[in-house]
Amino acid sequence: MRLLVFFLLFTTCAVAQKLPARWDELVASDWPAALEKSSRTCILPIGILEKHGPHVPLGSDLIKVREWAARATKDEYAVVFPDYFYGQINEARHQPGTFSLPSRLVWDLLDATCAEIARNGFDKIVIINGHGGNPELIRYFIQSQLDKRRDYAVYFFDPQPSPEFNKKMAEMRKSDPAGDQHAGEKETSSLLYLRPDLVKQERATQESGKNQKRLSLPNLYTGIWWYASYPNHYAGEGATGSKELGKLITEDTVDALVKALKVVKADKKTLELQKEYFDKVDQVGGK
Ligand SMILES: [Zn+2]
Repeated sequence: MRLLVFFLLFTTCAVAQKLPARWDELVASDWPAALEKSSRTCILPIGILEKHGPHVPLGSDLIKVREWAARATKDEYAVVFPDYFYGQINEARHQPGTFSLPSRLVWDLLDATCAEIARNGFDKIVIINGHGGNPELIRYFIQSQLDKRRDYAVYFFDPQPSPEFNKKMAEMRKSDPAGDQHAGEKETSSLLYLRPDLVKQERATQESGKNQKRLSLPNLYTGIWWYASYPNHYAGEGATGSKELGKLITEDTVDALVKALKVVKADKKTLELQKEYFDKVDQVGGK
């Protein structure tokens, strides 16, 4: 009898440990367990398909967010929505490999995806983003969650680097931080750490990642600004990237994501306030 209890306990634990984080790797019969273990929290990692200079893969942003989610959920369980690479990338349509859907479709797809995630039992959705052209879209999308009553909340994981991290990075970095953006030292480093097999670093100097400064419009914003500055869709010096810097960046981001997941999973206030807000909205007409 004792042996049987031990055996049952052991197999139950083994099964619990084997609960995959990725939505597409779960079996349907484990769905209730995944909802419970995740506190009904689902991560939506958003990447993009776009040129990353001449040397890092088109899906770099997706690779990063997918890896952050996979690593963080080993420490703090949440369900991870599969590959999602539909975002704002109008500025790179002149480069091969860019997958840029019409703006309204991008919006509707994101809205319908969140609604469909919620229909499956999640009431907390955490967007993690790897693409520099997405934050404005994501912030407006999340603010727009208040346009009608919803029984789920969407969060944006937007980590701010700690002073200690900045100090370590400054010691390791070889290129000018001001020019280090898209496919530059930092991003190349991340890919060298996560997927060295896909990086062709020897090609990083084949094109210029310098700001071309072809448009000067002080205090003004216009859609062609990025193309004006970086027509090669490359900003920085990928040749200076290193695996060590990539490890530092990845580990710091994953640490921050684990902390954020703990906060989201324990958070009851957001949904409570959201409900209170919609109740008040409904009373405005006095009917
Ligand atoms: Zn990128």
